Amino acid sequence: MPPDFIDSILKKIYGYDSFRPLQREIITAVIEGQDVIAILPTGAGKSLCFQIPALARDGLTLVISPLIALMKDQVDALTSNGVPATFLNSTLDFNDLGHRTAGLESGHYKLLYASPERIMTTRFIDCLKRWNVRTVAVDEAHCVSEWGHDFRPEYRQLATLRQALSGAAFIALTATATPRVKEDLERQLQLKSPRVFIASFNRPNLNYAVIPKERPQNQVLEFISQRREDAGIIYLQSRKGVEEMTLSLGTNGIKAGAYHAGLSVEARSATQDAFLRDEIPVICATVAFGMGIDKPNVRYVIHADLPKNIEGYYQETGRAGRDELPSDCVLLYSKADLMRNLRFLDEVTDRQASNIARQQMNKMVDFAESHRCRRIDLMSYFGEAWSEENCGGCDVCLAPKETWDATLEAQKYLSCLFRIKQRSGFNLGANHAIDVICGANTERIRKWEHNTLSTYGIGKETPKSEWKEIANQLIKLNFAEVENEQFHTVGITPKGVEFLKSKEQITLQHRPQGHSTAKIARAGAITCDEGLFAKLRALRKDIADRRNLPPYVIFGDRTLRHISRSYPQTDHEFLAIPGVGIQKFQDLGTTFLTAVKDWLSQHPKLEFPDETQTQVSAPRPKTKNEGIPETALISIELYRGGNTVEKIAEIRTLKATTINGHIAMGIQAGKLKVTPRDFYSEAEEAQLATATAQHGHDKLAPIFEALGGKISYEKIRFYISFNFPTIDSE
Ligand code: ADP
Ligand code: MG
Ligand code: ZN
Repeated sequence: MPPDFIDSILKKIYGYDSFRPLQREIITAVIEGQDVIAILPTGAGKSLCFQIPALARDGLTLVISPLIALMKDQVDALTSNGVPATFLNSTLDFNDLGHRTAGLESGHYKLLYASPERIMTTRFIDCLKRWNVRTVAVDEAHCVSEWGHDFRPEYRQLATLRQALSGAAFIALTATATPRVKEDLERQLQLKSPRVFIASFNRPNLNYAVIPKERPQNQVLEFISQRREDAGIIYLQSRKGVEEMTLSLGTNGIKAGAYHAGLSVEARSATQDAFLRDEIPVICATVAFGMGIDKPNVRYVIHADLPKNIEGYYQETGRAGRDELPSDCVLLYSKADLMRNLRFLDEVTDRQASNIARQQMNKMVDFAESHRCRRIDLMSYFGEAWSEENCGGCDVCLAPKETWDATLEAQKYLSCLFRIKQRSGFNLGANHAIDVICGANTERIRKWEHNTLSTYGIGKETPKSEWKEIANQLIKLNFAEVENEQFHTVGITPKGVEFLKSKEQITLQHRPQGHSTAKIARAGAITCDEGLFAKLRALRKDIADRRNLPPYVIFGDRTLRHISRSYPQTDHEFLAIPGVGIQKFQDLGTTFLTAVKDWLSQHPKLEFPDETQTQVSAPRPKTKNEGIPETALISIELYRGGNTVEKIAEIRTLKATTINGHIAMGIQAGKLKVTPRDFYSEAEEAQLATATAQHGHDKLAPIFEALGGKISYEKIRFYISFNFPTIDSE
């Protein structure tokens, strides 16, 4: 197999120019028939790691996938790229099942998706043997492990499959990186000295931010108002929280769907479907929502409540930006959430489980309260080193770095705590102290007469949110302490008292200004003509609806953005757009080219600076094609892709004779592996030889006439192409 073979599949079928990290290595190992474990984060492109080998190897690739919805989406996406794929599951009726089985018997399909339950019958295993299964891909393979977050007992039976299909290579794919899960995969699936590939868990296009949680519904609303066109997920802890957030967004004119385990299966799948189809941009959900959501253009994930652990937080935020475009992950953090979660844990009777949960929760809190780069914290959680000083994609790194002299503020805050205790005899809640400093008029303040304290209103000029931050930092530095976890009362420590007496200086770290919900230029951005982009999105939605598919199966946002910055106007230019393979080109090229043309007839063409990442390269090297017009190259490419002349003529709305001319050029340039017998018989060849010997080969008409009109112009052209292979370089 030539080494660039898989590159050409990548370009022709998927329309992508380059592999993402580890894809090439994994694909090569699978093609060689080795067992493989591939641990790559969500969105890294695991599907390609078994799809491309499926196309490159003979026989069938069986894909085990836990979710029925996921299977259908993947098969739809493959079919729209021209790959023969199918699935078998309980949703199919008898007829449909018959069709698919027949296709499998005849060896028509390259990929078969099925659920583990389906496979484990003896009859089915016999079928699989007959269907020449060469590769078995176990997707979401962590389901095999009790140590993963989504254990499914059915996956355990896959070991039987391994024995039944001993000649097939197994590839296990997951986004769960813990060593325990990895060991389980190897053992449970009985992998044979597998090659293990573990990708970096860094997601450069994700921007992480932690924001003090104040009035979450307003904060979320404000955030979404700045990105009404974008799709996003808001995670909440409780069903009630989900309902309330959905309602709040709805009454403010933002279409949002609710998703939690308390809703019926039908309601849930309708909401999920509408989200995938770009009909509702926002989903408010509990963590029940997520696995198998392959929507690539989720632009933000907001955690409005504190996640229970970092692993979950990482998986959930990972659902943003699978298409590598910049996306936001926002965590609204408050101590009150922590307290609430801890109260839940108090009720857990299993001591060990509750201890583990507590530890995990502490890690999560450390992350939220940290003043270190978020990426450093996340990566180190997964045992990965992150060496760069400034990641450029988190609130900490993007905030002004300087520390500031907080002596005065610290004095105000700590003396306020001191006065409160002095007046009341005990400490009060964290918020109360800040209310006093800010001079608020609350019931409590009136009740305790704290408006008569000397510290009342001394910090009016600083917003409450900043006071909270100052308070948090002072607690971390042990100048103050949370005295009662349950009521979150805060008091001054001896160290704090010492500080007040000594009048030392104190410096604190700056928090990000403006709560960083604004849009900023970031890794992976593709600047483009936003007007055209919006128009193309509408076009995509239209086509998708008519075909009953989710829009991203038509084209991803990346592809639309590339179109909207390079304004392709010829077939060749269109084929060079990332995400445009041959099948998509045939299918949608004309429609999208017309849309670009229409746009340019009414709008100026905008210039965009070169972005190295987004440079588009032509599908084949230009130098080899000298002398062949672009239009002929397209036909030749299509012909090589297995289309007949008639089909190409139809796709391109050109005459068959024109296409024949193109193919003749392809033959002449040595670009097509065809023989004369594909076009004319031996007898005809002899006649053509005589005629060209007499009349030369510059003009076709004399030859045609000499042969009495019995041999068509096309055949004459082909004969000339085969026998006089020189390209006139015009
Ligand atoms: P995973 O299963 O690892 O979460 P997917 O296989 O669903 O990820 O891929 C996520 C997205 O990335 C898909 O839209 C896919 O088409 C795209 N993708 C995969 N590989 C590449 C590549 N080499 N270049 C560009 N896009 C890619
Ligand atoms: Mg996947
Ligand atoms: Zn950072």
